[in-house]
Amino acid sequence: METPLTSAEPMLWSGWGDPAKAAELPAPVRGLLTELLGVRAPAAPAATFGEVRLPPVALPPPALAALAAVVGDEHVRADDDARIRHTRGKSTPDLLLMRAGDASDAPDAVVLPGSHDEVAAVLRLCAEHRVAVVPFGGGTSVVGGLVATRCGSEGGFAGVIALDSARLNRLVSVDPVSMVAELEPGLRAPQAEQLLAAHGLTLGHFPQSYEYATLGGFAAARSSGQASAGYGRFDDMVAGMTVATPRGTLEIGRAPKSAAGPDLRQVFLGSEGTFGVITSLRLRVHRAPAVRAYEGWRFESFAAGTAALRRLAQQEGPSPTVLRLSDETETMAGLAKPADLGAAGRDSGCLLVAGFEGSPADVAGRRDRAAAVLVEAGGVHLGPEPGDKWAQGRFSAPYLRDCLLAAGATVETLETAGFWSNLPRLYEAVRLALHGALTSPLVMCHISHVYATGASLYFTVVTAQTGDPLGQWAAAKRAANEAIVRAGGTISHHHGVGRDHREAYAAEIGDLGGEILRGIKERLDPAGILNPGVLIPDDSSAGHDGAGRGGWRSTGAE
Ligand SMILES: Cc1cc2nc3c(=O)[nH]c(=O)nc-3n(C[C@H](O)[C@H](O)[C@H](O)COP(=O)(O)OP(=O)(O)OC[C@H]3O[C@@H](n4cnc5c(N)ncnc54)[C@H](O)[C@@H]3O)c2cc1C
Repeated sequence: METPLTSAEPMLWSGWGDPAKAAELPAPVRGLLTELLGVRAPAAPAATFGEVRLPPVALPPPALAALAAVVGDEHVRADDDARIRHTRGKSTPDLLLMRAGDASDAPDAVVLPGSHDEVAAVLRLCAEHRVAVVPFGGGTSVVGGLVATRCGSEGGFAGVIALDSARLNRLVSVDPVSMVAELEPGLRAPQAEQLLAAHGLTLGHFPQSYEYATLGGFAAARSSGQASAGYGRFDDMVAGMTVATPRGTLEIGRAPKSAAGPDLRQVFLGSEGTFGVITSLRLRVHRAPAVRAYEGWRFESFAAGTAALRRLAQQEGPSPTVLRLSDETETMAGLAKPADLGAAGRDSGCLLVAGFEGSPADVAGRRDRAAAVLVEAGGVHLGPEPGDKWAQGRFSAPYLRDCLLAAGATVETLETAGFWSNLPRLYEAVRLALHGALTSPLVMCHISHVYATGASLYFTVVTAQTGDPLGQWAAAKRAANEAIVRAGGTISHHHGVGRDHREAYAAEIGDLGGEILRGIKERLDPAGILNPGVLIPDDSSAGHDGAGRGGWRSTGAE
Protein backbone atom coordinates (compact mmCIF):
# COMPACT_ATOMS: atom_id res chain seq x y z
CA MET A 1 0.00 0.00 0.00
CA GLU A 2 1.38 3.44 -0.89
CA THR A 3 -0.06 6.77 0.20
CA PRO A 4 0.55 10.13 -1.51
CA LEU A 5 3.21 12.48 -0.13
CA THR A 6 1.26 15.61 -0.88
CA SER A 7 -2.31 16.58 -0.24
CA ALA A 8 -4.00 19.45 -2.04
CA GLU A 9 -4.83 22.62 -0.16
CA PRO A 10 -8.47 22.60 1.00
CA MET A 11 -10.69 23.98 -1.74
CA LEU A 12 -11.90 27.57 -1.42
CA TRP A 13 -15.22 27.14 0.46
CA SER A 14 -17.15 29.61 -1.69
CA GLY A 15 -15.55 29.09 -5.08
CA TRP A 16 -13.03 27.13 -7.07
CA GLY A 17 -9.66 25.71 -6.21
CA ASP A 18 -6.62 26.59 -4.17
CA PRO A 19 -7.27 29.94 -2.41
CA ALA A 20 -3.62 30.90 -3.01
CA LYS A 21 -4.22 30.80 -6.77
CA ALA A 22 -7.31 33.05 -6.75
CA ALA A 23 -7.20 35.20 -9.89
CA GLU A 24 -7.90 38.89 -10.40
CA LEU A 25 -9.85 40.12 -13.39
CA PRO A 26 -7.55 42.43 -15.41
CA ALA A 27 -8.93 45.99 -15.58
CA PRO A 28 -9.26 45.95 -19.41
CA VAL A 29 -11.35 42.78 -19.24
CA ARG A 30 -13.56 44.37 -16.59
CA GLY A 31 -14.02 47.36 -18.91
CA LEU A 32 -14.86 45.13 -21.85
CA LEU A 33 -17.43 43.22 -19.83
CA THR A 34 -19.19 46.48 -19.07
CA GLU A 35 -18.90 47.75 -22.62
CA LEU A 36 -19.80 44.57 -24.53
CA LEU A 37 -22.12 42.72 -22.15
CA GLY A 38 -23.45 45.47 -19.88
CA VAL A 39 -22.01 43.82 -16.76
CA ARG A 40 -22.47 45.83 -13.54
CA ALA A 41 -21.18 45.01 -10.05
CA PRO A 42 -23.73 42.97 -8.02
CA ALA A 43 -25.85 44.88 -5.50
CA ALA A 44 -24.42 43.00 -2.49
CA PRO A 45 -20.91 41.68 -1.87
CA ALA A 46 -20.39 37.92 -1.38
CA ALA A 47 -21.06 36.59 2.13
CA THR A 48 -18.08 36.05 4.39
CA PHE A 49 -17.53 32.66 6.00
CA GLY A 50 -18.98 33.93 9.28
CA GLU A 51 -22.15 35.13 7.55
CA VAL A 52 -23.05 31.75 6.06
CA ARG A 53 -26.39 30.44 7.34
CA LEU A 54 -26.40 26.74 8.34
CA PRO A 55 -29.39 24.68 9.48
CA PRO A 56 -29.02 23.10 12.94
CA VAL A 57 -27.60 19.57 13.04
CA ALA A 58 -30.63 17.27 12.74
CA LEU A 59 -28.89 14.00 13.61
CA PRO A 60 -29.31 13.19 17.31
CA PRO A 61 -26.14 12.65 19.40
CA PRO A 62 -26.68 8.83 19.63
CA ALA A 63 -26.60 8.64 15.82
CA LEU A 64 -23.34 10.62 15.69
CA ALA A 65 -21.92 8.39 18.41
CA ALA A 66 -22.89 5.24 16.48
CA LEU A 67 -21.12 6.57 13.38
CA ALA A 68 -18.07 7.48 15.48
CA ALA A 69 -18.01 3.93 16.84
CA VAL A 70 -17.49 2.72 13.26
CA VAL A 71 -14.94 5.23 11.93
CA GLY A 72 -13.46 6.84 15.06
CA ASP A 73 -14.40 10.07 16.83
CA GLU A 74 -12.05 12.28 14.83
CA HIS A 75 -13.57 11.06 11.58
CA VAL A 76 -17.11 12.27 12.28
CA ARG A 77 -17.29 16.04 11.95
CA ALA A 78 -20.35 18.14 12.64
CA ASP A 79 -18.53 21.49 12.92
CA ASP A 80 -19.46 24.47 10.72
CA ASP A 81 -16.24 24.34 8.72
CA ALA A 82 -16.69 20.71 7.65
CA ARG A 83 -20.42 21.14 6.97
CA ILE A 84 -19.95 24.28 4.84
CA ARG A 85 -17.13 22.70 2.82
CA HIS A 86 -19.38 19.71 2.04
CA THR A 87 -22.40 21.77 1.01
CA ARG A 88 -23.29 21.07 -2.63
CA GLY A 89 -20.63 21.10 -5.38
CA LYS A 90 -19.16 23.71 -7.71
CA SER A 91 -21.85 24.43 -10.29
CA THR A 92 -22.84 28.01 -11.04
CA PRO A 93 -25.98 27.87 -8.83
CA ASP A 94 -23.93 26.16 -6.10
CA LEU A 95 -21.51 29.09 -6.14
CA LEU A 96 -24.26 31.70 -6.36
CA LEU A 97 -26.03 30.20 -3.33
CA MET A 98 -22.82 30.04 -1.31
CA ARG A 99 -21.92 33.62 -2.26
CA ALA A 100 -25.37 34.56 -0.91
CA GLY A 101 -24.51 32.83 2.40
CA ASP A 102 -27.00 30.00 1.86
CA ALA A 103 -25.81 26.62 3.19
CA SER A 104 -29.32 25.27 3.75
CA ASP A 105 -28.34 22.03 1.96
CA ALA A 106 -25.45 21.33 4.33
CA PRO A 107 -25.11 17.75 5.59
CA ASP A 108 -25.58 17.24 9.31
CA ALA A 109 -22.19 15.59 9.56
CA VAL A 110 -19.19 14.61 7.47
CA VAL A 111 -18.09 11.00 7.93
CA LEU A 112 -14.66 9.83 6.77
CA PRO A 113 -14.32 6.03 6.64
CA GLY A 114 -10.83 4.57 6.27
CA SER A 115 -11.60 1.21 4.66
CA HIS A 116 -14.11 -0.70 2.58
CA ASP A 117 -15.42 -2.42 5.71
CA GLU A 118 -15.99 0.92 7.42
CA VAL A 119 -17.90 2.20 4.36
CA ALA A 120 -20.05 -0.94 4.39
CA ALA A 121 -20.73 -0.58 8.12
CA VAL A 122 -21.68 3.11 7.74
CA LEU A 123 -24.12 2.21 4.96
CA ARG A 124 -25.73 -0.51 7.07
CA LEU A 125 -26.10 1.85 10.00
CA CYS A 126 -27.56 4.62 7.85
CA ALA A 127 -30.02 2.25 6.18
CA GLU A 128 -31.17 1.03 9.57
CA HIS A 129 -31.72 4.55 10.92
CA ARG A 130 -32.87 6.14 7.65
CA VAL A 131 -30.02 8.58 7.30
CA ALA A 132 -29.38 9.82 3.76
CA VAL A 133 -25.80 9.38 2.49
CA VAL A 134 -24.12 11.63 -0.08
CA PRO A 135 -20.89 10.00 -1.32
CA PHE A 136 -18.43 12.89 -1.57
CA GLY A 137 -15.17 12.78 -3.57
CA GLY A 138 -13.53 16.04 -4.56
CA GLY A 139 -16.81 17.96 -4.37
CA THR A 140 -16.41 19.26 -7.93
CA SER A 141 -19.78 18.15 -9.31
CA VAL A 142 -21.28 20.79 -11.60
CA VAL A 143 -24.70 19.16 -11.98
CA GLY A 144 -26.09 19.16 -8.44
CA GLY A 145 -24.77 15.66 -7.72
CA LEU A 146 -24.01 16.50 -4.09
CA VAL A 147 -27.20 18.20 -2.99
CA ALA A 148 -28.62 16.43 0.02
CA THR A 149 -32.38 15.85 0.16
CA ARG A 150 -33.87 15.66 3.61
CA CYS A 151 -37.58 15.23 3.04
CA GLY A 152 -40.31 15.29 0.41
CA SER A 153 -41.10 12.42 -1.92
CA GLU A 154 -37.53 11.09 -1.62
CA GLY A 155 -37.10 11.62 2.07
CA GLY A 156 -38.40 11.42 5.55
CA PHE A 157 -34.77 11.02 6.59
CA ALA A 158 -33.49 11.40 10.13
CA GLY A 159 -30.62 13.41 8.67
CA VAL A 160 -27.99 13.56 5.95
CA ILE A 161 -24.30 12.71 6.04
CA ALA A 162 -21.60 13.43 3.50
CA LEU A 163 -19.51 10.28 3.18
CA ASP A 164 -16.12 11.75 2.30
CA SER A 165 -13.68 9.35 0.58
CA ALA A 166 -10.54 11.37 1.45
CA ARG A 167 -9.08 8.68 3.73
CA LEU A 168 -9.42 6.02 1.01
CA ASN A 169 -6.29 7.33 -0.66
CA ARG A 170 -3.92 4.44 -1.26
CA LEU A 171 -2.27 2.89 -4.27
CA VAL A 172 -3.04 -0.73 -3.44
CA SER A 173 -1.02 -2.53 -6.12
CA VAL A 174 0.51 -2.27 -9.57
CA ASP A 175 0.45 -5.13 -12.07
CA PRO A 176 3.10 -4.04 -14.60
CA VAL A 177 2.52 -7.14 -16.73
CA SER A 178 -1.16 -6.41 -17.32
CA MET A 179 -0.67 -2.61 -16.99
CA VAL A 180 -3.40 -2.42 -14.36
CA ALA A 181 -3.17 -0.57 -11.04
CA GLU A 182 -5.53 -0.82 -8.09
CA LEU A 183 -6.21 2.55 -6.50
CA GLU A 184 -8.61 3.78 -3.86
CA PRO A 185 -11.36 6.21 -4.85
CA GLY A 186 -10.47 9.14 -2.58
CA LEU A 187 -7.18 9.83 -4.35
CA ARG A 188 -7.29 13.19 -6.06
CA ALA A 189 -6.01 13.06 -9.63
CA PRO A 190 -2.61 14.71 -8.90
CA GLN A 191 -2.03 12.33 -5.97
CA ALA A 192 -2.83 9.33 -8.18
CA GLU A 193 -0.47 10.63 -10.88
CA GLN A 194 2.26 11.18 -8.28
CA LEU A 195 1.96 7.62 -6.95
CA LEU A 196 1.90 6.12 -10.44
CA ALA A 197 4.81 8.29 -11.61
CA ALA A 198 7.01 6.51 -9.04
CA HIS A 199 6.38 3.36 -11.15
CA GLY A 200 6.93 5.19 -14.46
CA LEU A 201 3.19 5.12 -15.15
CA THR A 202 0.32 7.52 -15.80
CA LEU A 203 -3.46 7.30 -15.96
CA GLY A 204 -3.59 10.05 -18.58
CA HIS A 205 -6.78 11.54 -17.11
CA PHE A 206 -6.58 15.33 -17.03
CA PRO A 207 -10.01 16.99 -16.76
CA GLN A 208 -10.12 20.70 -16.03
CA SER A 209 -11.08 19.81 -12.44
CA TYR A 210 -7.82 17.78 -12.20
CA GLU A 211 -6.48 19.60 -9.12
CA TYR A 212 -9.36 18.54 -6.85
CA ALA A 213 -11.46 15.76 -8.37
CA THR A 214 -11.03 12.15 -7.22
CA LEU A 215 -10.85 8.79 -8.95
CA GLY A 216 -14.14 7.70 -7.35
CA GLY A 217 -15.85 10.82 -8.66
CA PHE A 218 -14.43 10.22 -12.15
CA ALA A 219 -15.88 6.71 -12.22
CA ALA A 220 -19.19 7.64 -10.59
CA ALA A 221 -19.76 10.53 -13.02
CA ARG A 222 -18.16 9.05 -16.18
CA SER A 223 -15.59 11.80 -16.47
CA SER A 224 -13.64 12.60 -19.61
CA GLY A 225 -10.24 14.32 -19.55
CA GLN A 226 -8.60 16.74 -21.94
CA ALA A 227 -6.36 14.00 -23.32
CA SER A 228 -9.27 11.65 -24.05
CA ALA A 229 -8.37 11.36 -27.75
CA GLY A 230 -5.21 9.52 -26.72
CA TYR A 231 -5.93 7.89 -23.34
CA GLY A 232 -9.70 7.45 -23.58
CA ARG A 233 -12.50 8.40 -21.20
CA PHE A 234 -12.30 7.43 -17.53
CA ASP A 235 -15.00 4.77 -17.91
CA ASP A 236 -12.82 3.12 -20.58
CA MET A 237 -9.99 2.87 -18.04
CA VAL A 238 -11.95 0.91 -15.44
CA ALA A 239 -11.02 -2.77 -15.59
CA GLY A 240 -12.70 -3.60 -12.31
CA MET A 241 -14.04 -2.19 -9.08
CA THR A 242 -15.23 -2.95 -5.56
CA VAL A 243 -18.52 -1.41 -4.49
CA ALA A 244 -20.15 -1.27 -1.06
CA THR A 245 -23.94 -1.16 -1.19
CA PRO A 246 -26.46 -1.23 1.65
CA ARG A 247 -27.20 -4.84 0.55
CA GLY A 248 -23.59 -6.04 0.45
CA THR A 249 -20.36 -5.91 -1.54
CA LEU A 250 -19.76 -6.40 -5.25
CA GLU A 251 -16.41 -7.30 -6.84
CA ILE A 252 -16.66 -6.63 -10.56
CA GLY A 253 -14.26 -7.23 -13.47
CA ARG A 254 -11.93 -10.23 -13.64
CA ALA A 255 -10.76 -10.08 -17.26
CA PRO A 256 -10.12 -7.37 -19.88
CA LYS A 257 -13.29 -8.36 -21.75
CA SER A 258 -15.98 -10.87 -20.97
CA ALA A 259 -18.97 -12.48 -22.64
CA ALA A 260 -20.40 -13.47 -19.27
CA GLY A 261 -23.66 -11.58 -19.49
CA PRO A 262 -24.22 -7.83 -19.23
CA ASP A 263 -21.24 -5.88 -17.92
CA LEU A 264 -22.04 -4.92 -14.32
CA ARG A 265 -19.29 -2.29 -14.35
CA GLN A 266 -21.64 -0.23 -16.47
CA VAL A 267 -24.27 -0.30 -13.72
CA PHE A 268 -21.94 1.60 -11.40
CA LEU A 269 -20.04 3.77 -13.91
CA GLY A 270 -22.16 6.90 -14.06
CA SER A 271 -24.34 5.82 -11.11
CA GLU A 272 -23.37 9.01 -9.21
CA GLY A 273 -23.44 7.44 -5.78
CA THR A 274 -27.05 6.26 -6.04
CA PHE A 275 -26.40 2.50 -6.11
CA GLY A 276 -23.34 2.13 -3.91
CA VAL A 277 -20.00 3.57 -2.88
CA ILE A 278 -16.99 2.66 -5.01
CA THR A 279 -14.23 1.68 -2.59
CA SER A 280 -11.56 0.45 -5.00
CA LEU A 281 -10.78 0.75 -8.71
CA ARG A 282 -8.65 -1.44 -10.96
CA LEU A 283 -7.52 0.95 -13.69
CA ARG A 284 -5.70 0.57 -16.99
CA VAL A 285 -2.44 2.53 -16.86
CA HIS A 286 0.06 3.72 -19.48
CA ARG A 287 3.82 4.24 -19.51
CA ALA A 288 4.52 7.87 -18.60
CA PRO A 289 5.28 9.71 -21.84
CA ALA A 290 8.85 10.86 -22.48
CA VAL A 291 7.65 13.64 -24.78
CA ARG A 292 4.69 16.01 -24.64
CA ALA A 293 4.27 18.30 -27.64
CA TYR A 294 1.33 20.62 -28.28
CA GLU A 295 0.76 22.82 -31.32
CA GLY A 296 -1.81 25.12 -32.89
CA TRP A 297 -3.60 25.02 -36.24
CA ARG A 298 -5.90 27.62 -37.74
CA PHE A 299 -9.05 26.79 -39.69
CA GLU A 300 -11.24 29.19 -41.65
CA SER A 301 -14.37 28.20 -39.78
CA PHE A 302 -15.74 25.90 -37.08
CA ALA A 303 -17.32 23.78 -39.82
CA ALA A 304 -13.96 23.34 -41.59
CA GLY A 305 -12.20 22.52 -38.31
CA THR A 306 -14.94 20.05 -37.36
CA ALA A 307 -14.53 18.26 -40.68
CA ALA A 308 -10.77 18.02 -40.04
CA LEU A 309 -11.36 16.54 -36.58
CA ARG A 310 -13.70 13.98 -38.06
CA ARG A 311 -11.09 12.93 -40.60
CA LEU A 312 -8.51 12.54 -37.83
CA ALA A 313 -10.90 10.55 -35.66
CA GLN A 314 -11.86 8.27 -38.53
CA GLN A 315 -8.37 7.61 -39.88
CA GLU A 316 -6.75 4.26 -39.29
CA GLY A 317 -4.10 4.15 -36.57
CA PRO A 318 -3.45 6.22 -33.44
CA SER A 319 -4.74 9.80 -33.17
CA PRO A 320 -3.24 12.78 -31.40
CA THR A 321 -3.48 12.60 -27.60
CA VAL A 322 -5.24 15.97 -27.29
CA LEU A 323 -7.62 17.44 -29.84
CA ARG A 324 -9.45 20.65 -29.17
CA LEU A 325 -11.18 22.96 -31.63
CA SER A 326 -12.59 26.33 -30.51
CA ASP A 327 -15.38 27.98 -32.48
CA GLU A 328 -14.99 31.51 -33.83
CA THR A 329 -16.26 33.19 -30.65
CA GLU A 330 -14.11 31.14 -28.29
CA THR A 331 -11.08 31.66 -30.51
CA MET A 332 -11.70 35.39 -30.48
CA ALA A 333 -12.16 35.49 -26.69
CA GLY A 334 -8.95 33.52 -26.20
CA LEU A 335 -6.82 36.05 -28.09
CA ALA A 336 -3.80 37.22 -26.10
CA LYS A 337 -4.86 40.87 -26.13
CA PRO A 338 -8.34 41.48 -24.77
CA ALA A 339 -8.41 44.75 -26.71
CA ASP A 340 -8.64 42.65 -29.88
CA LEU A 341 -12.06 41.42 -28.75
CA GLY A 342 -14.73 42.71 -31.01
CA ALA A 343 -12.23 44.11 -33.48
CA ALA A 344 -11.18 40.68 -34.66
CA GLY A 345 -14.78 39.51 -34.62
CA ARG A 346 -15.55 36.29 -36.38
CA ASP A 347 -12.66 36.83 -38.81
CA SER A 348 -10.18 35.31 -36.40
CA GLY A 349 -10.98 31.85 -37.73
CA CYS A 350 -10.85 28.88 -35.39
CA LEU A 351 -7.99 27.56 -33.29
CA LEU A 352 -7.33 23.83 -33.14
CA VAL A 353 -4.89 22.53 -30.53
CA ALA A 354 -3.32 19.15 -31.22
CA GLY A 355 -1.20 17.43 -28.57
CA PHE A 356 1.01 14.37 -28.81
CA GLU A 357 2.34 12.33 -25.89
CA GLY A 358 4.53 9.23 -26.01
CA SER A 359 8.01 8.12 -26.96
CA PRO A 360 9.97 10.46 -29.29
CA ALA A 361 9.47 8.15 -32.26
CA ASP A 362 5.78 7.65 -31.59
CA VAL A 363 5.18 11.39 -31.18
CA ALA A 364 7.09 12.19 -34.38
CA GLY A 365 5.14 9.58 -36.34
CA ARG A 366 1.75 10.67 -35.04
CA ARG A 367 2.53 14.34 -35.63
CA ASP A 368 3.42 13.70 -39.25
CA ARG A 369 0.30 11.65 -39.87
CA ALA A 370 -1.93 14.26 -38.20
CA ALA A 371 -0.23 17.11 -40.05
CA ALA A 372 -0.90 15.44 -43.40
CA VAL A 373 -4.61 15.13 -42.58
CA LEU A 374 -4.91 18.67 -41.18
CA VAL A 375 -3.15 20.31 -44.14
CA GLU A 376 -5.31 18.41 -46.57
CA ALA A 377 -8.39 19.61 -44.63
CA GLY A 378 -7.33 23.25 -45.02
CA GLY A 379 -5.50 23.81 -41.73
CA VAL A 380 -2.64 26.30 -41.36
CA HIS A 381 0.10 25.29 -38.96
CA LEU A 382 0.70 27.92 -36.22
CA GLY A 383 3.62 26.20 -34.49
CA PRO A 384 3.97 25.28 -30.80
CA GLU A 385 3.04 28.64 -29.21
CA PRO A 386 -0.78 28.31 -29.14
CA GLY A 387 -0.43 24.70 -27.96
CA ASP A 388 2.01 25.60 -25.17
CA LYS A 389 -0.19 28.51 -24.12
CA TRP A 390 -3.18 26.18 -23.88
CA ALA A 391 -1.18 23.59 -21.91
CA GLN A 392 0.08 26.20 -19.42
CA GLY A 393 -3.36 27.67 -18.76
CA ARG A 394 -5.40 24.48 -18.97
CA PHE A 395 -6.28 24.35 -15.24
CA SER A 396 -6.52 28.09 -14.60
CA ALA A 397 -9.81 28.96 -16.35
CA PRO A 398 -12.01 27.84 -13.42
CA TYR A 399 -10.32 30.47 -11.22
CA LEU A 400 -11.65 33.15 -13.58
CA ARG A 401 -15.22 32.06 -12.95
CA ASP A 402 -15.04 33.36 -9.38
CA CYS A 403 -13.83 36.80 -10.44
CA LEU A 404 -16.43 36.98 -13.20
CA LEU A 405 -19.18 36.18 -10.67
CA ALA A 406 -17.77 38.81 -8.31
CA ALA A 407 -17.76 41.34 -11.16
CA GLY A 408 -21.46 40.71 -11.85
CA ALA A 409 -21.21 38.30 -14.79
CA THR A 410 -22.95 34.93 -14.76
CA VAL A 411 -20.77 32.20 -16.25
CA GLU A 412 -22.01 28.75 -17.07
CA THR A 413 -20.56 25.78 -18.89
CA LEU A 414 -22.63 22.98 -20.37
CA GLU A 415 -21.91 20.11 -22.66
CA THR A 416 -23.47 17.48 -24.88
CA ALA A 417 -22.42 15.04 -27.59
CA GLY A 418 -23.83 13.76 -30.85
CA PHE A 419 -23.03 11.90 -34.03
CA TRP A 420 -20.98 13.80 -36.63
CA SER A 421 -23.93 14.07 -39.01
CA ASN A 422 -26.04 15.76 -36.33
CA LEU A 423 -23.35 17.94 -34.74
CA PRO A 424 -24.01 21.16 -36.72
CA ARG A 425 -27.73 20.99 -35.85
CA LEU A 426 -26.97 20.40 -32.17
CA TYR A 427 -24.46 23.26 -32.13
CA GLU A 428 -26.91 25.74 -33.64
CA ALA A 429 -29.81 24.57 -31.46
CA VAL A 430 -27.93 25.15 -28.18
CA ARG A 431 -26.52 28.50 -29.33
CA LEU A 432 -29.96 29.69 -30.39
CA ALA A 433 -31.51 28.54 -27.11
CA LEU A 434 -28.92 30.41 -25.04
CA HIS A 435 -29.20 33.56 -27.13
CA GLY A 436 -32.99 33.35 -26.77
CA ALA A 437 -32.92 32.86 -22.99
CA LEU A 438 -30.34 35.51 -22.11
CA THR A 439 -29.78 39.16 -23.01
CA SER A 440 -26.74 39.62 -25.30
CA PRO A 441 -24.73 36.69 -23.96
CA LEU A 442 -21.27 35.68 -25.13
CA VAL A 443 -21.72 32.04 -26.20
CA MET A 444 -18.53 30.12 -26.90
CA CYS A 445 -18.04 26.48 -27.83
CA HIS A 446 -15.33 23.92 -28.35
CA ILE A 447 -14.99 20.28 -29.32
CA SER A 448 -12.52 18.43 -27.11
CA HIS A 449 -13.57 14.78 -27.15
CA VAL A 450 -13.74 13.03 -30.52
CA TYR A 451 -14.73 9.54 -31.59
CA ALA A 452 -15.00 7.77 -34.92
CA THR A 453 -18.76 8.34 -34.88
CA GLY A 454 -19.14 11.75 -33.27
CA ALA A 455 -17.92 14.31 -30.76
CA SER A 456 -18.80 16.40 -27.73
CA LEU A 457 -19.75 20.09 -27.77
CA TYR A 458 -18.75 22.17 -24.74
CA PHE A 459 -20.36 25.60 -24.35
CA THR A 460 -19.25 28.47 -22.12
CA VAL A 461 -21.75 31.30 -21.64
CA VAL A 462 -21.01 34.69 -20.12
CA THR A 463 -23.75 37.23 -19.54
CA ALA A 464 -24.56 40.20 -17.31
CA GLN A 465 -26.15 39.07 -14.06
CA THR A 466 -29.74 40.15 -13.48
CA GLY A 467 -31.15 40.95 -10.03
CA ASP A 468 -32.20 37.26 -9.82
CA PRO A 469 -29.12 35.34 -11.01
CA LEU A 470 -30.50 31.96 -9.93
CA GLY A 471 -33.70 32.52 -11.88
CA GLN A 472 -31.65 33.71 -14.84
CA TRP A 473 -29.52 30.55 -14.65
CA ALA A 474 -32.61 28.32 -14.36
CA ALA A 475 -34.22 29.83 -17.46
CA ALA A 476 -31.05 29.46 -19.53
CA LYS A 477 -30.44 25.93 -18.29
CA ARG A 478 -33.99 24.91 -19.13
CA ALA A 479 -33.71 26.36 -22.62
CA ALA A 480 -30.38 24.60 -23.24
CA ASN A 481 -31.63 21.27 -21.87
CA GLU A 482 -34.75 21.41 -24.05
CA ALA A 483 -32.67 22.29 -27.10
CA ILE A 484 -30.29 19.37 -26.50
CA VAL A 485 -33.11 16.87 -26.06
CA ARG A 486 -34.99 18.14 -29.15
CA ALA A 487 -31.88 18.25 -31.32
CA GLY A 488 -31.07 14.61 -30.51
CA GLY A 489 -27.96 15.10 -28.35
CA THR A 490 -27.24 13.42 -25.03
CA ILE A 491 -27.90 15.52 -21.95
CA SER A 492 -24.31 15.02 -20.84
CA HIS A 493 -21.07 13.84 -22.40
CA HIS A 494 -19.04 14.02 -19.16
CA HIS A 495 -20.52 16.18 -16.38
CA GLY A 496 -23.21 13.64 -15.54
CA VAL A 497 -26.85 13.98 -14.57
CA GLY A 498 -27.06 14.98 -10.90
CA ARG A 499 -30.21 16.95 -10.24
CA ASP A 500 -29.83 19.54 -12.93
CA HIS A 501 -30.22 17.04 -15.80
CA ARG A 502 -32.52 14.53 -14.13
CA GLU A 503 -35.68 15.40 -16.03
CA ALA A 504 -33.89 15.68 -19.34
CA TYR A 505 -32.24 12.32 -18.63
CA ALA A 506 -35.71 10.85 -18.02
CA ALA A 507 -36.71 12.04 -21.48
CA GLU A 508 -33.51 10.59 -22.97
CA ILE A 509 -33.93 7.07 -21.56
CA GLY A 510 -37.74 6.92 -21.62
CA ASP A 511 -40.20 5.41 -19.14
CA LEU A 512 -38.85 1.87 -19.36
CA GLY A 513 -35.27 3.08 -18.90
CA GLY A 514 -36.35 4.91 -15.75
CA GLU A 515 -38.13 1.80 -14.48
CA ILE A 516 -34.97 -0.29 -14.93
CA LEU A 517 -32.93 2.19 -12.90
CA ARG A 518 -35.55 2.33 -10.15
CA GLY A 519 -35.57 -1.50 -10.09
CA ILE A 520 -31.79 -1.64 -9.59
CA LYS A 521 -32.00 1.05 -6.92
CA GLU A 522 -34.74 -0.84 -5.09
CA ARG A 523 -32.60 -4.02 -5.04
CA LEU A 524 -29.32 -2.41 -3.93
CA ASP A 525 -30.62 0.38 -1.71
CA PRO A 526 -34.14 -0.56 -0.53
CA ALA A 527 -34.24 2.26 2.07
CA GLY A 528 -33.31 4.77 -0.64
CA ILE A 529 -30.58 6.39 1.46
CA LEU A 530 -27.96 6.84 -1.26
CA ASN A 531 -27.99 10.28 -2.86
CA PRO A 532 -31.78 10.71 -2.85
CA GLY A 533 -32.98 13.00 -5.61
CA VAL A 534 -29.90 12.50 -7.81
CA LEU A 535 -29.86 10.82 -11.25
CA ILE A 536 -32.75 8.33 -10.97
CA PRO A 537 -35.90 9.69 -12.65
CA ASP A 538 -38.97 9.39 -10.51
CA ASP A 539 -42.20 8.09 -11.99
CA SER A 540 -43.79 11.46 -12.43
CA SER A 541 -40.83 13.08 -14.17
CA ALA A 542 -40.45 10.43 -16.87
CA GLY A 543 -41.29 11.88 -20.22
CA HIS A 544 -40.64 15.52 -19.28
CA ASP A 545 -37.41 17.18 -20.19
CA GLY A 546 -35.81 20.09 -18.43
CA ALA A 547 -33.66 21.26 -15.59
CA GLY A 548 -34.48 19.51 -12.31
CA ARG A 549 -33.09 22.06 -9.87
CA GLY A 550 -34.81 25.37 -10.25
CA GLY A 551 -35.76 24.47 -13.81
CA TRP A 552 -39.42 23.59 -14.28
CA ARG A 553 -40.37 23.98 -10.69
CA SER A 554 -39.24 27.40 -9.53
CA THR A 555 -37.36 30.52 -10.41
CA GLY A 556 -34.30 28.88 -8.94
CA ALA A 557 -34.38 30.54 -5.53
CA GLU A 558 -34.11 27.37 -3.48
C1 LIG B 1 -13.96 23.79 -12.76
C2 LIG B 1 -14.46 22.43 -13.15
C3 LIG B 1 -13.96 21.80 -14.27
C4 LIG B 1 -14.43 20.53 -14.63
N1 LIG B 1 -13.89 19.92 -15.72
C5 LIG B 1 -14.28 18.66 -16.04
C6 LIG B 1 -13.69 17.99 -17.15
O1 LIG B 1 -12.81 18.51 -17.85
N2 LIG B 1 -14.11 16.72 -17.42
C7 LIG B 1 -15.05 16.11 -16.64
O2 LIG B 1 -15.36 14.95 -16.90
N3 LIG B 1 -15.64 16.73 -15.61
C8 LIG B 1 -15.27 17.98 -15.28
N4 LIG B 1 -15.84 18.61 -14.20
C9 LIG B 1 -16.89 17.92 -13.44
C10 LIG B 1 -16.34 17.09 -12.25
O3 LIG B 1 -15.03 17.44 -11.93
C11 LIG B 1 -16.40 15.63 -12.59
O4 LIG B 1 -17.75 15.24 -12.63
C12 LIG B 1 -15.67 14.69 -11.61
O5 LIG B 1 -15.80 13.38 -12.11
C13 LIG B 1 -16.19 14.75 -10.21
O6 LIG B 1 -15.22 14.17 -9.35
P1 LIG B 1 -15.25 14.47 -7.79
O7 LIG B 1 -14.24 13.62 -7.16
O8 LIG B 1 -15.15 15.91 -7.53
O9 LIG B 1 -16.69 13.92 -7.43
P2 LIG B 1 -17.83 14.62 -6.59
O10 LIG B 1 -18.19 15.92 -7.20
O11 LIG B 1 -17.48 14.61 -5.17
O12 LIG B 1 -18.99 13.56 -6.86
C14 LIG B 1 -19.56 13.43 -8.14
C15 LIG B 1 -20.69 12.39 -8.06
O13 LIG B 1 -20.14 11.10 -7.82
C16 LIG B 1 -20.57 10.59 -6.56
N5 LIG B 1 -19.40 9.96 -5.95
C17 LIG B 1 -18.24 10.54 -5.59
N6 LIG B 1 -17.39 9.63 -5.12
C18 LIG B 1 -18.02 8.43 -5.17
C19 LIG B 1 -17.65 7.09 -4.82
N7 LIG B 1 -16.47 6.77 -4.31
N8 LIG B 1 -18.56 6.11 -5.02
C20 LIG B 1 -19.78 6.38 -5.54
N9 LIG B 1 -20.18 7.63 -5.88
C21 LIG B 1 -19.30 8.64 -5.70
C22 LIG B 1 -21.13 11.77 -5.80
O14 LIG B 1 -22.15 11.41 -4.87
C23 LIG B 1 -21.64 12.67 -6.91
O15 LIG B 1 -22.95 12.30 -7.30
C24 LIG B 1 -15.42 19.90 -13.84
C25 LIG B 1 -15.90 20.54 -12.70
C26 LIG B 1 -15.43 21.79 -12.34
C27 LIG B 1 -15.95 22.45 -11.12
